Amino acid sequence: MYKQTITFNDVLLEPQYSDITSRKEVSLSTPLDSLRKLKIPIIASPMDTVSEWRMASSLSSMGGMAIIHRYNSIEEQANQVKKVLEEANKPPVDYPASFTPVVGAAVGVSGDFVERASRCYEAGAKVICIDVAHGDHAMVKTAIASLREQLGMFIHIMAGNVATLEGFNRLADWGADSIRVGIGGGSICSTRIQTGHGVPTLQSVIDCAQTDRDAILIADGGIKNSVEILKALAAGADAVMLGSLLAGTDETPSETFRDRDGRCFKAYRGMASAEAQKAWRGKTSSLEGVSTTIPCKGSVKNVVEELLTGVRSGLSYSGARDIPELRSKAKFILQSHAASIESSTHILRR
Ligand code: IMP
Repeated sequence: MYKQTITFNDVLLEPQYSDITSRKEVSLSTPLDSLRKLKIPIIASPMDTVSEWRMASSLSSMGGMAIIHRYNSIEEQANQVKKVLEEANKPPVDYPASFTPVVGAAVGVSGDFVERASRCYEAGAKVICIDVAHGDHAMVKTAIASLREQLGMFIHIMAGNVATLEGFNRLADWGADSIRVGIGGGSICSTRIQTGHGVPTLQSVIDCAQTDRDAILIADGGIKNSVEILKALAAGADAVMLGSLLAGTDETPSETFRDRDGRCFKAYRGMASAEAQKAWRGKTSSLEGVSTTIPCKGSVKNVVEELLTGVRSGLSYSGARDIPELRSKAKFILQSHAASIESSTHILRR
């Protein structure tokens, strides 16, 4: 009658034999499509408190990517893309030639979305992300076809979000190069409360990873730490999309607040929250997100490097030198509630 599902904290990875002597031996590079690679499997979410040019510039200099959000005028969005590429003109010395900095731009599925995509493409965006909450939808099929017709075969089209293998395969068959997987799991998301629909993100990744299509799988929503990045990659994600883990960093475009004690916070909000909807379209309807503040975290480089240190250690426990090897060696085990308590530091609870 119903299907059993799991999410990140329900599982652990069984340690495997390893001959890795240093985390430097571990590569986290991942394909974006047949033409492009990312050096690190991290993509910043197209949200107005996360991804503008500073986030895109920092992440692309590390070998990741950001999708510039679409909650602005076409002119503003195209200028954001241009700024990233001006900065990218100066790649860091250790940047391997095979990794070209990539920047993405988000569009919707109606109104001026084809013009928006074309202007961002002309400004230098190599990835256009069709950014809607329910991606397994006829309008996404039409949007992919329109973008292909306008921008040709070499543009990378990211689409989503989907939660099921059937949805993933449909988007791949409609022509998406990469697909955002996860519905209702985002930290600021209230979709499951409002609509009763969704699938735990890790389960969606496990299901969608069964695909026989070539599209790249991006785990999106609810990833809280390096361990969950690792579990998503081990379950079959090629990359992860992050919102809250990057929110609060210096490079986010959101407002900074100080409380009475001088502590610094930055805004982070769901794009379907009342606050975000009022800001970008002057009214609200169908609220599926919330707005919050996050303690300031400093530079995104430090935050991402710390996350990746954890991910590399995880690969080494699985005896894996890269993401494909992790995927083939990883052995998930279910953990009981008591085991999950044991898994977190518990001496402090005495
Ligand atoms: P987080 O990394 O857990 O904070 O989740 C970020 C993801 O939540 C984004 O990449 C989107 O897929 C999703 N998202 C963004 N805004 C909303 C919203 O308002 N409602 C539901 N999901 C959202």
